[in-house]
Amino acid sequence: MSRFPEVWASPEEHLRAAQPQGPVFYFAPEVLARTARRFRAGFDGLVSYAVKANPERAVLENLVAAGITAFDVASPAEIALIREIAPQAALHYNNPVRARAEIAAGVEAGVASWSVDGFGELAKLIELVPTGEEVAVRLHLGLPGAAYDFGEKFGENPDDAVALLRAVKAAGFTPAITFHPGTQCTAPGAWARYIEASAEVARRAEVRLARLNVGGGFPADRGRGTPPLEAIFAAIHAARDKAFGSEAPALVCEPGRAMVAEAFSLAVQVKAKRACGALFLTDGIYGALAESPLMGAVERVRVVSPDGLAREGAPVARVLYGPTCDSVDRLPDPVTLPGDIAEGDTIVFDGMGAYSTVTATRFNGYGAYEIVTVRAR
Ligand SMILES: *Cc1c(COP(=O)(O)O)cnc(C)c1O
Repeated sequence: MSRFPEVWASPEEHLRAAQPQGPVFYFAPEVLARTARRFRAGFDGLVSYAVKANPERAVLENLVAAGITAFDVASPAEIALIREIAPQAALHYNNPVRARAEIAAGVEAGVASWSVDGFGELAKLIELVPTGEEVAVRLHLGLPGAAYDFGEKFGENPDDAVALLRAVKAAGFTPAITFHPGTQCTAPGAWARYIEASAEVARRAEVRLARLNVGGGFPADRGRGTPPLEAIFAAIHAARDKAFGSEAPALVCEPGRAMVAEAFSLAVQVKAKRACGALFLTDGIYGALAESPLMGAVERVRVVSPDGLAREGAPVARVLYGPTCDSVDRLPDPVTLPGDIAEGDTIVFDGMGAYSTVTATRFNGYGAYEIVTVRAR
């Protein structure tokens, strides 16, 4: 039997007792449940979780326990995973481009909603999906406001969306519209613009929408300038009322990042401190920090010494390298850390639950991590 508890009070308690020598994710189920409650209480519609952000079993099971009943899936493997954990959950298959075999797998699993972004893809759905099912046209406006435009490769411009929405209805499907404003979107106005455009597309197509899916894109707390989720919910609700009036469709949202980010912190160790001040870490951009070059400077970090205490020296901007033999393996500069940081210390990155566990590679033999459960981060 392990001499360690299954749930630790905090990352610091585990770091002090276990002295891990490689990357550790600290998962706080209570933080995840609190975030799920925040979405369910604040958003006036169905809250679906985008599985790709973090498909760890413990995440999915805790979301089901917190009352999440719908999941945004993009592949047969994600469909199978959700069917195993939550056989009754609603599956929204919102990757608009699918091979015929993938569509067949979705039909077999009883997918509740499909997205589409082109006549070629709609033709496949007409062939393989029973009429009456919900098919949502994916709209793309390419607005600023996000860290990067996740959906750039998907979606129709408004003119093409009008034609496609008409065709969806004519094929006997239940018509809907969906969009994704780009991930880590900090501009509530982006949702409002998309909702206005969706209402305009529906009006021009002379189609009454069954539902409007306002996507993911909700921002995780990255320090300065992150609006609270509630400000975005308010912008969405106001735009819906203004654009649709009494004809308002039911809303769906499908957060990935904002649902799961806060529930995980990532701890990596300092392997070496160079004379120039640069640090070499036990993980980097080929591992759990894969997203950092896209997301920009890291803000929410703390440094813990081997005895579990916080380093509090005056801040110094440093270059941080990952462990692989590739000079690209470097975090976006600068990362400001306490000046007394030393070899053997641990850097804890907060808000690391999304696009981290799932995108880590084993390049150069690195990238393995363990997940430790904590009561609070
Ligand atoms: C990735 C994705 C999401 C989740 O996006 P976040 O920015 O992580 O919230 C939602 N919907 C679709 C269709 C996606 O592809």
